[in-house]
Amino acid sequence: MAGVRLRMCELLYLQRRINGEYLLYNAAMGGERASTTRMRRSGKICCECGAMLPPPYLQGERLCGRCGKDCPPKHRVYMQFTLTRGWFCQFLEADLKTVLPCKVTVRDQKKLFEMAERGGFHLSPAGRYSIQKAIDEGRGGIWLELSGEQYAKLKRTVR
Ligand SMILES: [Zn+2]
Repeated sequence: MAGVRLRMCELLYLQRRINGEYLLYNAAMGGERASTTRMRRSGKICCECGAMLPPPYLQGERLCGRCGKDCPPKHRVYMQFTLTRGWFCQFLEADLKTVLPCKVTVRDQKKLFEMAERGGFHLSPAGRYSIQKAIDEGRGGIWLELSGEQYAKLKRTVR
């Protein structure tokens, strides 16, 4: 009998713990579970463990310190493209003010997708859609996550 009561206690305890965590989770998510994906995409929560992240929120998925510990640091760069004669691309630092020296013009819009993917942009259906939408509008931009080497290339002045 004692054993059963103990198990009941454990069960209650477990239930209370789960409820507590659930409430905590809901509080963190603003009580809106459907927004989790949006928060992950906008970089408000870690895309691995869901932990809240400090601002600035610059769009694009981010990792918290714990999850990103093992990955080499990435450089967030904003790729801006405009249709002129071909697609003129320039790259901005995360402050969205500093323009990096390297500029690229590509003829084919397919190249924009290639560049995006190489730059660590996730070409999910949503990702593709956001690029395609910008292409249709003749201008737009996306966030890239560059390796140190890729970033260094953009910092170099091309003549
Ligand atoms: Zn994390």
